[in-house]
Amino acid sequence: MAESSNFCTKCGRGLEPGMQFCPQCGAVVSGSQADADFKKQEAEIESYIRESRVNWAVFALAIYAIPVTIAAFISLLDAGATANTIWMNDDFQNWIIQHDYDISVDTVKNYIMIAAGLALGSGVCALISMFCVIRRKMWKIAVAMCFLASVLCCWSIFGIFIGLMVTWMIYGLRDSFTDS
Ligand SMILES: [Zn+2]
Repeated sequence: MAESSNFCTKCGRGLEPGMQFCPQCGAVVSGSQADADFKKQEAEIESYIRESRVNWAVFALAIYAIPVTIAAFISLLDAGATANTIWMNDDFQNWIIQHDYDISVDTVKNYIMIAAGLALGSGVCALISMFCVIRRKMWKIAVAMCFLASVLCCWSIFGIFIGLMVTWMIYGLRDSFTDS
């Protein structure tokens, strides 16, 4: 047995074979069964924390991606009808006349299509990112798609902020992916 293992690494007190803890300072004797048990426990806690972070990332992506994708898809299909409703609104007509704006019903429809298109793109990117995180595969795609989803979420500063935070979170979890 090596000479060094017979002394406490913390306080230097001499140790007898089979000691798990230093009788003077209470430090765990390195290489003992207690030391191995502590290290195993630490690793288990670490992996548990990492798993729960992965689940949080999936949750954050899901509560954003699913409703936004569905809502954006419906808005796209409904853009014509929505544009007509807005166009027929008296307040809207008064607003145009007041400001002397040259806006047609098609202009309104185009605005809706652009906004819904951006939202759909953002939602789909977040969905792709979510599936990568769930499968723990392709962390670079997961990070890139989450970032893109954040940027496309340009109608909401709050959304961009949350999106970038989740992007950073996924980047921090890259070790949990099988291809890291
Ligand atoms: Zn000691």
